[in-house]
Amino acid sequence: MLWNRPRVLVLLGLIVALGWWQWHPQPGEVRRTRLLMGTTVEVVVLGTATDQAEAAIEAAFAEMTRLERLLGSGYAESDPAKLSRSQTEMVVAEETAQILELGLQVARESRGAFDLGLGRLNALWGLDGPDPRVPKPDQIKAALVGLGPEALDVDGVRVRRRQEVAIDLGAIAKGYIVDRGVQVLRDHGVTQAALNAGGDMFLLGHHRDRPWHIGIKHPRKTTEVLATLSLQNRAVVTSGDYERFFEEGGERYHHLFDPKTGYPARACQSVTVVAPSTALADALATAVFVLGVEQGFELIGRFPETAALIVASDGSQHGSPGLEQYRAGP
Ligand code: ADP
Ligand code: MG
Repeated sequence: MLWNRPRVLVLLGLIVALGWWQWHPQPGEVRRTRLLMGTTVEVVVLGTATDQAEAAIEAAFAEMTRLERLLGSGYAESDPAKLSRSQTEMVVAEETAQILELGLQVARESRGAFDLGLGRLNALWGLDGPDPRVPKPDQIKAALVGLGPEALDVDGVRVRRRQEVAIDLGAIAKGYIVDRGVQVLRDHGVTQAALNAGGDMFLLGHHRDRPWHIGIKHPRKTTEVLATLSLQNRAVVTSGDYERFFEEGGERYHHLFDPKTGYPARACQSVTVVAPSTALADALATAVFVLGVEQGFELIGRFPETAALIVASDGSQHGSPGLEQYRAGP
């Protein structure tokens, strides 16, 4: 999961990952950063008195810290860790149940390209730790046993899992935590803000007199902007093969797995998703990455008010029909 990986990689990912903010610090803007979930989380608040904005941001950070402990698999007492140890049915926190419900929906709609049970496969590849490696084919095969949306049964806050499957919320929890941070800002009266957790972003209200303009970087040409998106009350999340990877025998192995094969998905270099919530954008970005252009756009089409920008593995760029309304250039 993201917050286990070494800092260096995180910062590298952060620099290479999602866009630059297309504005300059100006008076009346309160900006704070905090290391959370293994990445730099940045909050910018506008149009609110400084004291109130600072209190709001502090409260948002506190909530995000609480949720990191509840949802991160790096914490022995987190819900996914406890769930992966549990022998029978377990009662989870309301927040965990919400994530599992949404994750299962994306798992079903993506016909298993998204899977909440990749804990064992993830540990096998070791991409969160200092010593990633290509596992043996029979180890990979064994880690895929029991996967699929049916591996989890969620009934309110009661959850049961197939015993072979270890839960990993790495592809969705960060987005969910961003949404909760934004909700805390709103509860404190904030109406204009940007919250960015290492490329998982939500844009609340306007940036001054127009929507926020967010540049999406090219996954290979780090100085090139793929597109500038104009966003208001929307999340934007990018998943890329350059975020966490290692090379062996001239091959690049990264952290987004195809649950059908157990190997890194090969269809894309990067996928950016716009959605009404960051949790959904996070999950869809991972799912579309695995599915590729054609099936990925089909999946996007099944979720209202979502759009995607894909750089396929051959470098070609593809925008879903819904993307045009957000394009501010180039
Ligand atoms: P990041 O954490 O770098 O922002 P993602 O949101 O795309 O990236 O999530 C990647 C993480 O999700 C992986 O580290 C792994 O824990 C998990 N994961 C990898 N492949 C899948 C998949 N097909 N379905 C669900 N989760 C996945
Ligand atoms: Mg994701």
